[in-house]
This record gives sequence, structure tokens and C-alpha cells, in this order.
Amino acid sequence: MSPTAEQQVKFLSNLQRLLGEGQFVATYKYALLLALADIAIEAGDDTGAPLPVSTKLIAEKFIQYYWRQVVPYVPKSDPMAGEVLRQNTGKQAAVIRHVIEARQHHGDSLATAKSDSKGWKSLVTDVDQVVCKMPLWKLQTVGQDSFDFLYENKVKGTSIELRPGVTFCLRQFYGLIGDLVRGAWVRYIRRHNHDTLGTTADLSEFLFGSERSDLSDVRDILEDLQSGRCFYCEKPMQRHGGHVDHFVPWSKYPLDLGHNFVVAHQTCNSAKSDHLAAASYLSAWAERNIQHRDQLVSEFDAHSVLHDLPTSARIANWAYQRTFDVAGMTWTRKGNMVPLTEDWIQSINQLMESA
Ligand SMILES: [Zn+2]
Repeated sequence: MSPTAEQQVKFLSNLQRLLGEGQFVATYKYALLLALADIAIEAGDDTGAPLPVSTKLIAEKFIQYYWRQVVPYVPKSDPMAGEVLRQNTGKQAAVIRHVIEARQHHGDSLATAKSDSKGWKSLVTDVDQVVCKMPLWKLQTVGQDSFDFLYENKVKGTSIELRPGVTFCLRQFYGLIGDLVRGAWVRYIRRHNHDTLGTTADLSEFLFGSERSDLSDVRDILEDLQSGRCFYCEKPMQRHGGHVDHFVPWSKYPLDLGHNFVVAHQTCNSAKSDHLAAASYLSAWAERNIQHRDQLVSEFDAHSVLHDLPTSARIANWAYQRTFDVAGMTWTRKGNMVPLTEDWIQSINQLMESA
């Protein structure tokens, strides 16, 4: 059963209290909260049911977040400098060391690191141990009080179970919670890296932005697939001139997975901005991913692009359901928004079945 309005408000105020009054000796607790929210979207549903989550899955999310954050930060004022930002109050956090080592070994691509199954397994095991030792059983403590509204504090074990209603609330308030947690994370990094950062303004983009620099391979793959035409207006584009667009906008769900990309004119891309595309585009996107699934997978693998079609489908399902529930608007073309029509469900269902 889904939580009542009153329970949902209580959930948000509990979360606010956790962020406001909890002890943060490292950024792990922020990573843990983001991981739970992401897992609620990628593995949960809107029934209000409890959700078992393995610590291994949480560890994989940690690696994903810190993967980009361990790159040395180079201040604009001093291009020759560059330091890995401190993620804790004492000596550098253990997860950071593990991820740095993995990057030294595999290079910059997370997809390449993942494809080395033995190395990946050992990295996940190392990070998993830190997750279990550090944030997992400490997150829900405020002062001396245990405050375990998210999951039971069992203090041991390799899994947790999100309490009834928690997955529902994480999905319902995903955008709000993400902004809240990332904002607190950025402030923490600012406080603990004052010398390196000064008054730099682009910290949030550095910590959480999309890996846009890596997307030229994706652009070329998709330009071929779309026969050189813009995904939205269907008019021809210049060769290598397309802009890679997150079909489900990055601002709604910050994860780069191959099947979520389309290419479009720069003008169409920026007109769409942070909006969700109308149901007709969803249908075209689902159709493309069904029809060219295997081709896309082998192209993505060949170019080290992360992909996971079932997950992309569940994320799209969540984003469209949210918009539909609140009678939200979707984008059709520059300056034109329309209500989301009911046929979105069919497109998503077809994609979910085929994925
Ligand atoms: Zn266009």
C-alpha cells in the first residue's frame, strides 16, 4: 500500500533531519543516500512494498559516483595545479584510493573497468567492505539516537531491506532528494578543500556533470543509425554535427547509459532542454531500441559506452509515470508543450517486454 500524504511529508522531514543533524566525517553517507534513491528507480516500483538491496549493488553505485570525482581538480586560475579533492575529514577516504587504483589500471572508461570481470569483482568487494564498515549502519544515527526510518539497522549482513513506503517516497521525490543530497555533498567538498577550490563556481558540474566529453563515438554511431537525420525534427544534420541528447533528461535522472542517447540538431537539443519528450518521440525511441537492440549493444561495447537497456527502460517508465500522474507537460518542438497522452504506456510496455 502506498504511504499516505502525511507519511510522505514525515519521510521528507526525516530525511532533512538526517542531513541537517547527522555526523558527516566523509562523503559516504551522501553517496549512500543517492545510491538508495537510484536503486529505488532502477529496481523498485510504486506499490509501497519493501525492497531488498544487496550491499554489493550499493558498492557498484559508489564506484559509479566516485569514478568521476577522483579525477584531479584543476582550478581555472592555475591550470598547472590539480589535486584529487578530499572526501573526508581525516586521511583520504578508502573508496577513493580503491577507485584511483582502478582508474590507473583501466584508464578513464568505467565501461572498460566493468568489462574486466575479475578486476571489477575485486574492486566491488573492496568497496563493499567499506560500505558495510562505514556508512551503512551509521547513516541513520542522529546524536545518540537511532533513527532507522529507511531500513532496519541490523549492524551486520550483506543486504538491507528498504522499509515499506521508502522506495515509493524515493521514487516520488527523486529530483528533490537528489538536489538536497548533492547540494550538501558540494558544500562538504567546499568546506574541506578550501585551498584547492578558492571561490570556484563550477564545482557541482565537476562532481556531478555528465561525461559529455566522451560522447563523440556515441554521436557517430547514432548519426548512422538515424540516417543523418535529427531525432526530433527529422531534418538532415551535418555529418559529425549532431548533438548527443539524453532522451530522458540528465536533470531528471543523471546517468549516462547508451540506449538513452539520441542525436539532434543543436537547436532542437537546446529547445528540448530539461523537458521530457512527447509520447510520439517516446514511441520512436522505444521502437529504435527494440529494432536495433543488438546492433547498439555491440557498437556500445566496441566503444566502451555503458549500457543496460532494461535499466534505461525502467528509468523511462518511472519518468513518464511521474509526469503522467501529475498531468505534466511534454515537449514537442521549440516553444510548444503538450499534455502527455495515455499511449506512452504502450510504448514503454513494448520496450520493457523486449528488454
Ligand atoms: Zn532537429
